[in-house]
Amino acid sequence: MEIRIENLDKIYKNGHKALTDINLTIEDGMFGLLGPNGAGKSTLMRILVTLMKPSNGRVLVNGMDLQKHRKEVRALLGYLPQDFRFFAKYRTWEFLDYSARLAGLKNRAQRNQAVEQMLEQVGLYEARDRRAGRLSGGMKRRLGIAQAIIGDPKILIVDEPTTGLDPDERIRFRNILSKMTEKEMIVILSTHIVGDISSTCRSMALLEKGKLVFVGAPDELIDRSKGHVFQMTVSTKEFEEIKEKYNVISTIPSVEGWDIQVVAEDTGDLPSTLIEPNLEHAYVYFMELLLNKNKELF
Ligand code: ADP
Repeated sequence: MEIRIENLDKIYKNGHKALTDINLTIEDGMFGLLGPNGAGKSTLMRILVTLMKPSNGRVLVNGMDLQKHRKEVRALLGYLPQDFRFFAKYRTWEFLDYSARLAGLKNRAQRNQAVEQMLEQVGLYEARDRRAGRLSGGMKRRLGIAQAIIGDPKILIVDEPTTGLDPDERIRFRNILSKMTEKEMIVILSTHIVGDISSTCRSMALLEKGKLVFVGAPDELIDRSKGHVFQMTVSTKEFEEIKEKYNVISTIPSVEGWDIQVVAEDTGDLPSTLIEPNLEHAYVYFMELLLNKNKELF
């Protein structure tokens, strides 16, 4: 599969430009779209699932123009929107049966099999007779992903799926998604949570104020922040001063005061040691330092 996005703009009716000149090619595997709230992620997702038209530019799915081949493209799609709602009175299995019918699974025996298999896959088998409205937050989200994948989509789009989930459920959800990428398909995960973009994402993009500011592998983003993440032990007084001047990422109380991690171009005369950056550090370095320093570039 290939999604090619060309010169895409979206200007809302009130004149707000939510996306500016987006150019991006997405291939099989997990693709992470990361950006702060309001960056334009949902807008882009809604355009990709044909719920919204772009103001300029086009999207090609395997060479098919999205605007001209809506039906064909929709048949390839599974979508979990940010504000996913379902009929609370349906039992879990009933809702999946309904989703399977919508996805075109007409044969009853085949559908039953698909529903059973899906209940197992997302860990809802025990809850299959429970009314959907009575599921926990994490279970609801898993039912959401189940309805998106029951039709065996070639492109799966999930918008902010882990917001509000506890850590266990978050990991569970990520595992379901990364399992999907064993198939030949595109999984697009949009999120403002850096931790969602794990090593399972073969490529990712950073969206900021409607513009793509980085496209590449997570490791490439990490590489850019090498030499800019520092660890230091400071007193409470020093900590107060450092907080004003630097991006402090983590703080752990220690015998001498605080063990802190700082993302900075350099730390001047402060005694500090360089540490290996992770994606969280890299995101802060990119958004807070590189972007601010090179505003004219973006
Ligand atoms: P994200 O998903 O990254 O949080 P959105 O795509 O939801 O971002 O929103 C991008 C920007 O477009 C935000 O500034 C938001 O306020 C604005 N926006 C979203 N929907 C509309 C709309 N229907 N009309 C006008 N502005 C909108």
